Amino acid sequence: MSSPVTVTFLGGLGEVGRNCTAIESDGKVLVIDFGLMFPDESMPGVDVILPDDRYLRERADSIEALIVTHGHEDHVGGVSHFLKEFEAPLYGSALTMGIASHKVGEAGLGSRTSINVVADGERRRIGPFDVEFLPITHSVPQSMCVVVHSKQGVLVHTGDFKLDFTPVDDRLTDLGRLGELSRDAGIRLLMADSTNADAPGFSASETTVGETLRRLFPELRGRRIIASCFASHLHRVQQIVDVAIDEGRVIFPLGRSMVNNIRIARDLGVLDLPERHVRSIEEVNDHDPAKVCVLCTGSQGEQFAALSLMAKGDHRDISIGDNDTVIMSSHPIPGNEHPVFVVMNALVRRGAEVIHSGQDHVHTTGHAKRDELRILQSIAKPEYFCPIEGEYRMLRRHADLAVDLGLADDHALVAVDGNQIVLTDHDVSLAKGVPHEYRYVHGNGENLDPAVLGERLNLADGGVVVVSITVDMDARDIVAGPRIASRGWATDAELDELVPALEKELARSIGGALTDKSVDIDGLEQIARRATGRFVSNRTRRRPPILAVVQSTV
Ligand SMILES: [Zn+2]
Repeated sequence: MSSPVTVTFLGGLGEVGRNCTAIESDGKVLVIDFGLMFPDESMPGVDVILPDDRYLRERADSIEALIVTHGHEDHVGGVSHFLKEFEAPLYGSALTMGIASHKVGEAGLGSRTSINVVADGERRRIGPFDVEFLPITHSVPQSMCVVVHSKQGVLVHTGDFKLDFTPVDDRLTDLGRLGELSRDAGIRLLMADSTNADAPGFSASETTVGETLRRLFPELRGRRIIASCFASHLHRVQQIVDVAIDEGRVIFPLGRSMVNNIRIARDLGVLDLPERHVRSIEEVNDHDPAKVCVLCTGSQGEQFAALSLMAKGDHRDISIGDNDTVIMSSHPIPGNEHPVFVVMNALVRRGAEVIHSGQDHVHTTGHAKRDELRILQSIAKPEYFCPIEGEYRMLRRHADLAVDLGLADDHALVAVDGNQIVLTDHDVSLAKGVPHEYRYVHGNGENLDPAVLGERLNLADGGVVVVSITVDMDARDIVAGPRIASRGWATDAELDELVPALEKELARSIGGALTDKSVDIDGLEQIARRATGRFVSNRTRRRPPILAVVQSTV
């Protein structure tokens, strides 16, 4: 009899982002990824959303390590938040650890952790865990697939992946090793990326984007080129700079994360970009525009990124005009479409030509499509399968695909955030697991209570009306007010009419209530709130939150 092993999902199953998985064996915990997710319009004032780490807090002393599969924000982005709470060493590839240590250093947590670089194919004992790191292809170099040889068999966590058979760095997914594992001990549980489980066919190789760029750049001779992509997509960066340099252009990296990632990648030898071809953005206007290639961030329409600033005409060094071509070498992440289109429209209005992935093959996905997922299933042949990393419909589609390929229905486990997979000698089952909610972060990294967020949304919906009155409780009389203040409720012209009428109404109802000696301050506040609510609703058919403050002179 071996002790059970559990896998608890703390984020990323039900949304694209904030990935986090915890594997527990004999009271020891191995965490895979601690990513973040960016807020949408329904989350005003939220900076980022993190995995729900309550499960980890209860086991803080038992966490053996945080393994980071790759250098994307939704996998590594929460690393400094993690290290503020927990003391555990980090493991990952050289580039992933380079990106992680930059974040850890920026947060001033460098002394709190040990950073362990693992090589492709390396097998490490981490506490009681026997972990193997396999190379896997994705849209950031040096991504890893994590294999845990547990007491309950082999667990495989792909991280994000696609099957690129002609990657820019020739580093192939180790399908051979996965096949070997499946043949030898067998893979007890496979957890695999579901982001593109809806998309038919095969994803195009990253090198095919290079071919497009080779065709495009000569067509753009004479024009200034501004290329934007994810700062972590260093193979894309490599392909852009290779073509630009061959075309006699000078590279101007722009945007904090682009500059940082290029430095990290050059230091590690991941990016081949000789110093003589690079200039600082401050010098861009000293160069012939036809010999310039600006390489910038902001491909997701991020409000304060370089591309947005250029689009708004707010950039210090670059003023967009009709001699500019902007290549958006990216595709909006689901949910980001609107801000991306806002940026594109603004660039075109300024006269720029915009080339995006809807027009030309200037981007390819980093996530496996259905044919690739089929290949993974047929090589790994897992006993149980749990789709991870995706919205619910993607997880479901991925599970259905595995069943179509012959997996027994009850061996495809569709889990969501908070759920737990329990592996025992007898079976593998899905349990309800632990309570789960989004962990909203704002300000200096503090948690934002969902109830507070709910109040913010109410304010956003209807504005706010505040009434204040001062009373003399002995004389049972109004001493000052009522005074009315509001934000976002009505226009100034409307207020000119509404405020005096509401003041009169309140003076009447509070005056009346004061004649009843049993009514105290709380009672008066309640009466003021109700009277205001009735008035606001009758006169404007709107329902802003109402705050009533009644103060006593004694
Ligand atoms: Zn990724």
